[in-house]
Amino acid sequence: MNAVVFELGDEYGPYKTIHVFNQRLGVRGILVIDNVAIGPAIGGLRMAKDVTLAECARLARAMTLKNAAAGLAHGGGKSVLMADPAMPIGKKEDVIRAFAHALRTEDQYIFGPDMGTNEQCMAWVRDEIGRSVGLPKALGGIPLDELGATGYGVAAAAEVAQDFCDVTLTKATMAIQGFGSVGMHAARFLARDGVTLIAASDSKGTVYSPEGLDIESLITLKHEGRSVVDSDRGSKLARDDIVSVQADIWIPAARPDVIRMDNVGKMKSKLIVQGANIPVTTDAEVALHEAGVLIIPDFIANAGGVICAAMEYQGMDENRAFEIIRNKVSENTRIVLSNARQRHTTPRQAATSLARERVTAAMDTHRFGLY
Ligand code: NAD
Repeated sequence: MNAVVFELGDEYGPYKTIHVFNQRLGVRGILVIDNVAIGPAIGGLRMAKDVTLAECARLARAMTLKNAAAGLAHGGGKSVLMADPAMPIGKKEDVIRAFAHALRTEDQYIFGPDMGTNEQCMAWVRDEIGRSVGLPKALGGIPLDELGATGYGVAAAAEVAQDFCDVTLTKATMAIQGFGSVGMHAARFLARDGVTLIAASDSKGTVYSPEGLDIESLITLKHEGRSVVDSDRGSKLARDDIVSVQADIWIPAARPDVIRMDNVGKMKSKLIVQGANIPVTTDAEVALHEAGVLIIPDFIANAGGVICAAMEYQGMDENRAFEIIRNKVSENTRIVLSNARQRHTTPRQAATSLARERVTAAMDTHRFGLY
């Protein structure tokens, strides 16, 4: 067991790994605090039957880099509970409260929501130990999916990208894959900048109109639990046909690995702003870069949600939080795209270097580096 934990380590962490077990309550959980050189770790609590230590450690590292790249005063961590998130609510409350209580003295980790947990779960954690983000509104939470914090950041990234590619927002068209919390708000905010939505997809299919789609009516359909293909406007295409739509800006906001070597040749857009996490495989991303497509990598473009959560933790209201999302995402996009241009690298390489440089600089200020 020791060997497994230590084999996961490198110069950045993980600094601390804690297993929590309670047979009577059915608690089987792990906390990985990866690196807190920049500040206390923020990272989600994932609840799923098949989560592992290795997954938890990988996600904790992703949070170290994402928080550093976002310019937040937070390190990275993650926690997992090996359990069915659809268990009866009373039992779920007991398990989450017991797990949080066991970690009550780990004040360098702040819980957030992730797969299998939500704002209600974060309210239990807050009540138990006082440290969580992604809270309900009644507790000072900022409802980031409802307000579109991540989509707002995606739009801010696209605004900066204009200076680095042949796209002018006021004349541009966009296609959005995955018209959910991230996608619909990205569409709404970019439309304010003058961009025309010509295609949108969800798990049921794609709606397409070169003259432009009505964003508000598509949002209404989704809120009614229907699909974008139920719209009475535009033509209806297969779900994955959105990949080959001729739009200036393409925004993936659904699933990982949707652009791969087998379909990358269909892509006709000049700018891809990654709302989803890892929507393009590594080799396809390099192929697009070499073909002159500008890509804003996920952890720069979709940082609006985590920035919003960190601002909530500092007690800010939604207006101030949105101002900070715009400032941070714009600034980081500009740094990443300028560095990529100067150093002749991909934007992802530039973004990863930026995050590592920030973590390393913070580590150099500590006697023990990681903490
Ligand atoms: P969501 O569930 O609100 O929306 C997802 C949408 O994608 C739904 O409309 C769904 O029908 C559609 N979809 C699913 N499979 C599809 C497919 N194969 N093709 C086209 N559409 C498909 O989810 P969300 O919160 O908007 O998150 C979307 C992505 O963004 C995820 O990868 C998530 O990890 C990432 N992300 C979300 C946030 C956030 O703040 N919500 C922040 C960072 C990253």
